[in-house]
Amino acid sequence: MKYPGNVFMVSAPSGAGKSSLVNALLKQHPDIHLSISCTTRPARPGEENGREYHFVSVEAFTQWREEDNLLEWAEVHGNFYGTPRSFVEEKIKKGQSILLEIDWQGARQVRQQFPDVIDIFILPPSIEELEKRLHQRGQDSDSVISRRLLAASSEIAHADEFEYVIINDSFDIALAQLEHIVKTANLRYACQAANNHKLFAELGISHSQK
Ligand code: 5GP
Repeated sequence: MKYPGNVFMVSAPSGAGKSSLVNALLKQHPDIHLSISCTTRPARPGEENGREYHFVSVEAFTQWREEDNLLEWAEVHGNFYGTPRSFVEEKIKKGQSILLEIDWQGARQVRQQFPDVIDIFILPPSIEELEKRLHQRGQDSDSVISRRLLAASSEIAHADEFEYVIINDSFDIALAQLEHIVKTANLRYACQAANNHKLFAELGISHSQK
């Protein structure tokens, strides 16, 4: 299916700065809608139900999954995470753009359903920096940080499944690179045709791609 809205998918190991980059991007592009995942992990201090995640019980998550209400789901760091299907499908039908922040396992499932997905992997500048950032965040216990560091290398091993890679050394440069990707995606035929109806009609070219 060719759709005028873009589906962006961003993955990274914990501590690479993915959420800060995505939040800054979304401030500059309020037309991109962030999909709020559901998770069985407990909320961290400062997180709000419905803002960072929908925090749900394992029972509720299992029910969502069994009723096919999740576009994709995965077990990450011992907790379940999934993307509510209805939000994504609704936005896409309206031709709007969405962004998913998910892991490599979910990314594989999304690629199967949306082959035009624009997928981006964010790398830390070094393993030492990744460890420093996880400690600075101060939100997780030492045992959780050790588990996340171990998981980081297996997450990074899947970076080659993504089309775009951003190395988050300087935040401003990484954000500018993310913006370049968004601006390029907006030049896709389907986007241009949807945003320039009149011109396409005048020029006698189709509103949908062959
Ligand atoms: P955190 O608990 O640090 O917020 O997220 C842990 C990991 O879960 C991150 O790699 C994040 O991308 C991933 N994640 C968050 N939401 C989803 C989701 O809906 N689906 C999948 N597959 N992974 C997710």
